[in-house]
Amino acid sequence: MAHTGDGVTTLDSRSDSDDADAEFTDLVRRQLELLGEDPDREGLLRTPARVAKSLAWLTRGYELDVHHVMNGALFDAEGASNMVMVRDVELYSLCEHHMLPFYGRAHIAYIPNGKIVGLSKLPRIVEVFARRLQVQERLTEQIAGALDDVLAPMGVGVVVEAYHLCMMMRGVEKQNSKTITSAVRGLFRSDQRTREEFLTLAYAPRTAG
Ligand SMILES: [Zn+2]
Repeated sequence: MAHTGDGVTTLDSRSDSDDADAEFTDLVRRQLELLGEDPDREGLLRTPARVAKSLAWLTRGYELDVHHVMNGALFDAEGASNMVMVRDVELYSLCEHHMLPFYGRAHIAYIPNGKIVGLSKLPRIVEVFARRLQVQERLTEQIAGALDDVLAPMGVGVVVEAYHLCMMMRGVEKQNSKTITSAVRGLFRSDQRTREEFLTLAYAPRTAG
């Protein structure tokens, strides 16, 4: 990453993504200046490049596709009609209002309708939507919608519980408040027993370990 003194980045034979990195790096450097920092002091020399790289990684969900992620992990399960649930899927995202992290857990359940998905894929689906600038409500809906799309199940339910650093670090009162969102579709919406079973499982205290 070559910087000239006036902030112009030299364009040579770099690939598009390198150009994007260089532009982003310059932007973070300027951000440091606007914060009153000296981007040339030793501790900050490599910070613009690190921040650019880390932000690209934290938002890599834009380049992921649910159908691609699920590819090869869908199985026929004729006759399977009981609820499948994975609890405590770790989740890290960035709020789109402040670009500060929010983090927590997702609990995901569905009732198959002929197709099931490899359980290890559920965290990958969360990644697709969490690694973007998000609001928790939309993230929850998108996870539910993706499962609905790919599996066409009898029903799907998603609960997300998360702590938002924009509330915890900026506010004075909401340091410990957790935000809980849910999205239910199909039987999870229309059948009271199914919904209750799901919510009871989702909100049950965490088991140790
Ligand atoms: Zn925020």
